[in-house]
Amino acid sequence: MSLNQELIGGRMGLVTEQGEKGVGPGKIMESLNRKKYVYFFGAGKADGKADMKNLLGGKGANLAEMTNLGIPVPPGFTITTKVCTLYYGNDRNYPKELQKQMEAALGRVEKIMGKRFGDPGNPLLVSVRSGARSSMPGMMETVLNVGLTTKTIPGLIKRTNNERFVYDAYRRLLMMYSDVVMEKAAGIEPDDGEGIRQKLEHAMERLKKEKGYSNDTDLAADDLKILCRDFRVIIKLALKKEFPDDPHEQLWGGIGAVFQSWMGKRAVSYRRIEKIPEAWGTAVNVQSMVFGNTGETSATGVAFTRNPATGENMFFGEWLPNAQGEDVVAGIRTPNPVNKAGKTEDTKHLHSLDEAMPKLYRQLFVIQKKLERHYRDMQDIEFTVEDGRLWMLQTRVGKRNGQAAIRMAVEMAKEKLITKQMAVLRVRPDQIDELLHPAVAPAAEKGAAELAKGLPAGPGGAVGKVAFTADDAEKWSKRGEKVILVRNETSPEDVHGMHAAQAILTAKGGMTSHAALVARGWGKCCIVGCSDLDIDLPRKELRVNGKVLREGDWITLNGTKGRVYEGKLDLLPADPEHNAWYRELMIWADKFRTLKVRTNADTPYDATIARSFGAEGIGLCRTEHMFFGPDRIKAVREMILSDTVEDREKALAKLLPFQKGDFVGIFKAMAGLPVTIRLLDPPLHEFLPHTDEELRELAGEMGAPFEQLNAKNKSLHELNPMLGHRGCRLGITYPEIYEMQVQAIMEAACELVKEKVKVIPEIMIPLVGHVRELEIMRNLTVKIAEAVQKEYKVKVPYTVGTMIELPRACVTSDEIAYHADFYSFGTNDLTQTVYGLSRDDAGRFLPFYVEGGILKDDPFVSIDREGVGIFMRIAAEKGRKIKKDLKIGICGEHGGEPESVEFCHQIGLNYVSCSPYRVPIARFAAARAAMKELK
Ligand code: PEP
Ligand code: MG
Repeated sequence: MSLNQELIGGRMGLVTEQGEKGVGPGKIMESLNRKKYVYFFGAGKADGKADMKNLLGGKGANLAEMTNLGIPVPPGFTITTKVCTLYYGNDRNYPKELQKQMEAALGRVEKIMGKRFGDPGNPLLVSVRSGARSSMPGMMETVLNVGLTTKTIPGLIKRTNNERFVYDAYRRLLMMYSDVVMEKAAGIEPDDGEGIRQKLEHAMERLKKEKGYSNDTDLAADDLKILCRDFRVIIKLALKKEFPDDPHEQLWGGIGAVFQSWMGKRAVSYRRIEKIPEAWGTAVNVQSMVFGNTGETSATGVAFTRNPATGENMFFGEWLPNAQGEDVVAGIRTPNPVNKAGKTEDTKHLHSLDEAMPKLYRQLFVIQKKLERHYRDMQDIEFTVEDGRLWMLQTRVGKRNGQAAIRMAVEMAKEKLITKQMAVLRVRPDQIDELLHPAVAPAAEKGAAELAKGLPAGPGGAVGKVAFTADDAEKWSKRGEKVILVRNETSPEDVHGMHAAQAILTAKGGMTSHAALVARGWGKCCIVGCSDLDIDLPRKELRVNGKVLREGDWITLNGTKGRVYEGKLDLLPADPEHNAWYRELMIWADKFRTLKVRTNADTPYDATIARSFGAEGIGLCRTEHMFFGPDRIKAVREMILSDTVEDREKALAKLLPFQKGDFVGIFKAMAGLPVTIRLLDPPLHEFLPHTDEELRELAGEMGAPFEQLNAKNKSLHELNPMLGHRGCRLGITYPEIYEMQVQAIMEAACELVKEKVKVIPEIMIPLVGHVRELEIMRNLTVKIAEAVQKEYKVKVPYTVGTMIELPRACVTSDEIAYHADFYSFGTNDLTQTVYGLSRDDAGRFLPFYVEGGILKDDPFVSIDREGVGIFMRIAAEKGRKIKKDLKIGICGEHGGEPESVEFCHQIGLNYVSCSPYRVPIARFAAARAAMKELK
């Protein structure tokens, strides 16, 4: 159906192909737009704008926006992400309207540039680049200089009067196109080192060696001419195909390769790591080429409006004279700093752009400021200078590490560029987490053997074994080893290994190299441009300053200073409290959040750490952890193996002072804050001796025959202990155990009250499934608690509540709530029981579910909102129907995981409780959840 026919169909009320009834002009426009696959930009006008990222991809939307802002952008057009979706949905065929729309857009570009695509006299060359909705640096393909053919080369030489430049552009096209379009997109997977790109690179190196050149720029026009001829022969031999000499064939080939690269191995693995949906697709940007390599008045560069490693408000970047964009990021030549302020010890001898081209630098400076103000965020920009004229090729929100993200957010809020709320929303919880990561201990670093120096691309410290390939890094790390990936330079093919590694070290590349960019995005420790490293990949060896390291050898990186050390140095835990920006941001976050954040802690030490991280109470104190100390375990075993109540009470009496002492310590550490103490939960056999020897020793101490104890020991064995004799079922069958624990809690509390220490004990009954269980246990608790208070003649503000960790408890919460002062979701057991997944055995298969995309997340890590979450909602709603203000929290592992924290906020919980080191993340996640709700 033609567009016209479709419109007529719409007016007549016919059902369109999407099954909608087309009526009215609104629908007609929509229908027209639905078939608009190409968006033009150029000469100050663009069809698209910044908020059309979903359709145009990040790059396309921003090119349109920059064009509309009057910033010099080479004209071009964007083929929408929808085309990508249609292409994959239609057996890799394009919608039929695409070609016409593309021709029209190309015509407009030609008009602006005064050149024609394929014109032998005055040819237009274009770049073909990917551009997904969310940035995927280097994960997809790019082809530059499309349109250079044997017919257009002479014309371009005549126009530019620069034969060398034209042949250099052609050899780049040959290299990129044969690699991206003729090999990768064609599905050819050569062995390592056998790819067409490497073959061509070898040929070029050979020629340079023959001629005694050290730089690519030393190659003269005649050399490049020969090289291009050789390249075409090598391509034909290796790929059994002529290099296309038709500009339109090149263009369609480039577009196809970009779409193909959306499903390429590295893009797929990056999407999985970054959780980018496959359905989004990529856009393709076709843009007229501008050249940074036409001579000394040309240049190219990459810059950030603020320093992406530290967050400092300083224009920061790198540039290369007489070069094309890929040279800066590929790390082949060491780039110059963009300004004097950005020079370091290693780059102080290099010319900065403000020194070399001051007028142009000022223009660039003004543009970058304008872009940052416009987008209200740090921008990562690419620019090219062609014969003294500045062109902006890209702007996007720049990746940054946690430290930088926090500093920028706070400073931008203070500059009134953004609000404090936006500042909190802009920092991701995992970036807060990064700040909580370790650094190399200064004392250890002082005497350490320094192997080499490099650029500090990702701060923090890391220790690991040297691995030379991404596959090894991934494999070893799966085995539980700590690995540092060491490469000459990384490429997008390495992302899986980079992700698995503790840190990344490269011999080449600058602060904007692939390794630096990717590591920064993940907040990973990273050192680049470590030129002293001489990596012998085939031998898996590394020679550095007279030393030889082999794969598997330990090294330590200080990513903050860019220092590499031999061996394993001590790492210090992170120290966020000395970071003023972090402290300020957390103060803002705390003002915005409504969820309280508590900690899971069983010792005064953990409780103190958690308080220093901002914990507002203990949400779970697992009393069984106190039973394992060497001075206690014997009494516990005696208690378990006793046959009579009297014997059990005798053993419990031995335990009471220990427990009481522990509670005194914890109450003191948390003075004035609530402390939820859970009565004994795990199956008893977990405490029993594991060997006959231990059992024999115990029998001796208890004065009981070995056989008797052995028989008892065996009788406690359970086939399915996690669903067996545990939780409140222990308290029901052995009430004296819970009685002792309540007594210890209350005696500790009473003593402290007498000392004028404020205590708020919350006694929690685990694994309740039936209301009667809680009713009985509550009565027991109250009886003992009242008796102890009477004895001490003091009042303690204690409460009695329950864990909600069984589905039956959730759905009968309107019965249970009558006997509970509070609830705490035990989402570890709740996930286990709702899902029917064993907490202890799911590791055997759950990773496959997650990797295979069957599940988005491991439900033991992030709350399964659609399953477990529904039970939580039911429990909370039913409980609060009975008690409007019932206090409800969560103490399962999910309590420190940002997405789960958000869910807890959404269902109206009062607090989350998590391990001490996750408290800041939970505080922050809680604030973001509150902000998001307001948005
Ligand atoms: C839970 O089940 O979520 C919980 C906190 O208890 P535990 O992990 O000790 O079983
Ligand atoms: Mg539990």
